[in-house]
Amino acid sequence: MTSRANPPETQSIASLKGAGEQTLKKLERLGLRTIQDLLFHLPLRYEDRTRIIPLGSLRRGDQALIEGRVELAETLPSGRRSLVVRLADDTGYIHLRFFHYTQDQRRQFECGRRLRCYGEIRDGYYGLEINHPDYRLVTDNEAGKPEATLTPVYPLTEGLHQKALRRLIEQALVMAAQVRDWLPTSQTHQHGYSLADALRLLHAPPAGTTEHSQSIRAARQRLIFEELLAHHLSLSQFRARMQAHRAPILRISQKVTAQFSASLPFALTGAQQRVVEEIIADLSRPHPMMRLVQGDVGSGKTVVAAFAVLAALASQHQVAIMAPTELLAEQHSHSFQHWLEPLGVKIAFLSGKAKGEARRKTLESLASGAAGVIIGTHALFQDQVVFHNLGLVIIDEQHRFGVHQRLALREKGGNQGGYPHQLIMTATPIPRTLAMIGYADLDLSIIDERPPGRTPVKTTVLPTTRREDIIARINDWVAHGRQVYWVCTLIEESERLQAEAAGITAERLTAALPGLRIALIHGRLKPADKEAVMRHFKAAAIDVLVATTVIEVGVDVPNASLMVIENAERLGLAQLHQLRGRVGRGPGEAHCVLLYQPPLGETARERLGILRASDDGFVIAAKDMEIRGPGELLGTRQTGQVQFRIADLVRDAGLIETVRLAADELTRHHPGHVPPLIERWLGAAAQYAEA
Ligand code: ADP
Ligand code: MG
Repeated sequence: MTSRANPPETQSIASLKGAGEQTLKKLERLGLRTIQDLLFHLPLRYEDRTRIIPLGSLRRGDQALIEGRVELAETLPSGRRSLVVRLADDTGYIHLRFFHYTQDQRRQFECGRRLRCYGEIRDGYYGLEINHPDYRLVTDNEAGKPEATLTPVYPLTEGLHQKALRRLIEQALVMAAQVRDWLPTSQTHQHGYSLADALRLLHAPPAGTTEHSQSIRAARQRLIFEELLAHHLSLSQFRARMQAHRAPILRISQKVTAQFSASLPFALTGAQQRVVEEIIADLSRPHPMMRLVQGDVGSGKTVVAAFAVLAALASQHQVAIMAPTELLAEQHSHSFQHWLEPLGVKIAFLSGKAKGEARRKTLESLASGAAGVIIGTHALFQDQVVFHNLGLVIIDEQHRFGVHQRLALREKGGNQGGYPHQLIMTATPIPRTLAMIGYADLDLSIIDERPPGRTPVKTTVLPTTRREDIIARINDWVAHGRQVYWVCTLIEESERLQAEAAGITAERLTAALPGLRIALIHGRLKPADKEAVMRHFKAAAIDVLVATTVIEVGVDVPNASLMVIENAERLGLAQLHQLRGRVGRGPGEAHCVLLYQPPLGETARERLGILRASDDGFVIAAKDMEIRGPGELLGTRQTGQVQFRIADLVRDAGLIETVRLAADELTRHHPGHVPPLIERWLGAAAQYAEA
């Protein structure tokens, strides 16, 4: 081993042969600056140029390395002008075809010269041929001696050639042994490969292996493990920094929680109880809680939050509860009033629409501390909203809010330099493995049980051509005293267009169903009107509620048990599952009809099929992730963050538990290894962790 005076971690690529200024710039675009960066730029796949295939045994569709002597070279003017070269060996012949070529090139193909080519074998006019093969002239000495290793194919950027990159990485490989292995020894033994061996194997697999060979898989696992570990360590560090801040201690006595439980019209499920305990334990610590409660639609998250509210109030701290829509904020306001006002708690409400005197009074009551609980929309983020002593922030349906908004509300608790506790509730289930990487800055509580007495929603997928049948079914449904949602969706996020489409549908349904009471709700109605419609619907004074996706989150009307969703094929599975969660909240059967515009593509069919087959948000999310990849699920929150080079959270989920153990061991026993490991895999992306 040479000295580590200029180790691969810091040695610039400029020190290699063939790395001119232009090349360096292109490499920089791929994030490649050092020798280490090159070594960790791993092949996408391999080409097998280790065996020369006799021309007589070539098959159409193969990628093959061939060798032979030029028998003839001709320019063919017919059709698209091209240069055709016939190559032969003892077993047969093949044609090479070039549509673009120089005169120099043409002159190379003298009869009798020996050529070695690599390319895809296809059917041509004269039999098998290769278009634009990768080729070189070989001497008689070199004949019959192909490459000793598989040829790596790397991710490129515009203007950078595969051959140039290969030559650089070959040079870098000489220094592979100097790359530091940061894994704890317990891990390196398990993987069976040293880091240097794994790198050499992946960049230059010996003849006879394929990408499916056990050795290649093991070497790749070795690096996937390291990449997952680096990501996990990076988010854990972010979280540790957050938890170094202080937060008020919020305590509540067993007596008060027991009293509150007894006042509810139902008993908490086991899962709700467990999550309430987790939250209460967090709140009693002097550091900010950062807890994400995941629970499928209808699992009863709201009442769990009410316990946290009580804890804050018992310790004389204020609580802000934020919902993504006005409708949901209003509904929460009713629920919390219903539950907490008997205990003497006063609840204030703030939405963007509040103006004048009423708004001034609300703000005043928050600043003075007269109001203990405020419920609202993102109006709560506004600068004018000042708290007396905010101790707890509850955010419902968090996928609608970005991280930045979340952090902004945190700043409002700046009493004595501390932060308020945060409770985030979401019905968008994220598979645990993904959450461990994507939400590693949050603690996770899962309500994995639904209140008793719910029946699963029966889901049907139908083309719009069956509209008449569905309308007839609505009549029937209402005759049995049940209520109906008809949801109009558009791809455009525009509230105006959505409202218009819903208005037209409401008119049509009114004409088709003359005996029924049909009402319309959308985001452009005045809050008072919206509230009136919801009140009437809840009181069963409306049979069919035509709505836009404003009702997607949280709305709770148990007697509404049939939902029709238009343009279902255009919505994400998570969103459809949310919408569907509005029905099936009471006793008795519930149905959901997903209407689509035929024809339905293969993926769309598969996706809607998942919804029909499952009513479990976690199952649906896992399938959605298989089809669309994890990025979609985590949404904008994670873009640029869960970008892996070789790991794949779905495929490699089985490794995550071990990754966690290794992360613990490394943090505890080798803290110095953590920063260089994060740097190696995340480089600039690790900056996120400074947020
Ligand atoms: P989500 O988790 O979707 O926010 P909600 O909190 O809106 O669900 O609860 C859905 C409905 O279930 C509400 O009417 C709520 O009062 C009721 N509920 C909550 N917990 C229970 C329980 N343990 N038993 C029966 N009903 C419950
Ligand atoms: Mg809810």
